[in-house]
Amino acid sequence: MSDRARRWRKRKRKLRLETLLVHAGERLPTPLSHPSTTPIQLATAFESDSALRLDQIFGGQLRGYVYSRYANPTTEALEETLAALDGGQSAIAFSSGMAALHAAFLSLELSPGCRLLASRDLYGATYTLFRSLLAPFGVEIEFLDLTDMDSLRAALKRKPQPRGLFLEVLTNPLLYVIDVQQAVRLCRRAGVPVIVDNTFATPLLLRPLELGAALVVHSTTKYLAGHGDVTGGVAAALDAERAAALRTLRKIGGGTPGPFDSWLALRGVKTLSLRMSRICDNALAIASFLERHPRVERVRYPGLRSHPQHATAVKLFEKRGYGGLVAFEIRNADKARVLRFMDRLTVIGCATTLGDIYSQLLYPRISSHRELPPRQRMALGICDNLVRLSVGIEHPDDLIDDLTAALGE
Ligand code: PLP
Repeated sequence: MSDRARRWRKRKRKLRLETLLVHAGERLPTPLSHPSTTPIQLATAFESDSALRLDQIFGGQLRGYVYSRYANPTTEALEETLAALDGGQSAIAFSSGMAALHAAFLSLELSPGCRLLASRDLYGATYTLFRSLLAPFGVEIEFLDLTDMDSLRAALKRKPQPRGLFLEVLTNPLLYVIDVQQAVRLCRRAGVPVIVDNTFATPLLLRPLELGAALVVHSTTKYLAGHGDVTGGVAAALDAERAAALRTLRKIGGGTPGPFDSWLALRGVKTLSLRMSRICDNALAIASFLERHPRVERVRYPGLRSHPQHATAVKLFEKRGYGGLVAFEIRNADKARVLRFMDRLTVIGCATTLGDIYSQLLYPRISSHRELPPRQRMALGICDNLVRLSVGIEHPDDLIDDLTAALGE
């Protein structure tokens, strides 16, 4: 027992009720057994047995906790798991996918006049982050069609040298597959770090750090946590230096997740492999069904032979699966018809998220891509009859029955 604990026991007998109500339950001796699963440690701050030890923890000579914005044991348990999942030096958890992306971009040490390369097809909020947070500081963002590696080759030759390349493995909502392997190879040769948003593919399909990417980011809100009840993000770094920079950025920027959210994500990620395998099987079955359906004009799913980058998907994912997202166009449907189709679904919910155990449908025209002018939306290939389905773990026949009923004859 520490001196402090001994002093407390002696003192306790003389304390008044008001003081005991605040302190008694917090001062139990450390038990000899420990919980068999990670507890949720909600404490904002941590005490130490001695002031000297506290000083050493603050100074980094001793490993420990002082303040939960800097580090928290529950969040660290999540980070340990995610670092193993991504194969990185270290993983830093954030309060959302966007917070993780923001810190990832700042870690590139951007400055006015510098260039940043990015895929043309991106999650809408990432695009907005570029435009509203980075561009006003003089960062020039160059959007490229990364299904054509020549555009990357040309951009890498232009001066000044880009500070980084950002891409999503599977793009949203059109599900193009970017050849990350080739993009990383070209960028490494040019000394340009690559940041990959791997939210859609998950580390079970692809581990970009193993290909040489500098950073991989996920919205853990999606497949990693997987149950639709937590918002979070993570950035995993290939080298220790970048990981330390990200940790500092989080500490200062304050995008730290709460311990309860970390615990939910940790609990969710334990079953990622089981969920992904079911989700990928279901998605392939549904994509194949939709491809044969007379009311469906076109299906985009990387596991179908008809997908323009099917060969790239086979190369990258090595038959581990092709993800849980299926995009499709309903034949001759305008907005009113698509809305009627959505209203007829009963098992599949209509929600602006993905990667859950539940199947969910999103209509980009009224949600993720609502703000884009119609002409720009069309130019990107996001037509008024396009919907995106995030396939869950339900029985595939129930999902197919639901789609059959909603599509009609
Ligand atoms: N990246 C991708 C590919 C996403 O789809 C999303 C959200 O949908 C994000 C990042 C942002 O994640 P969050 O909503 O957790 O901030």
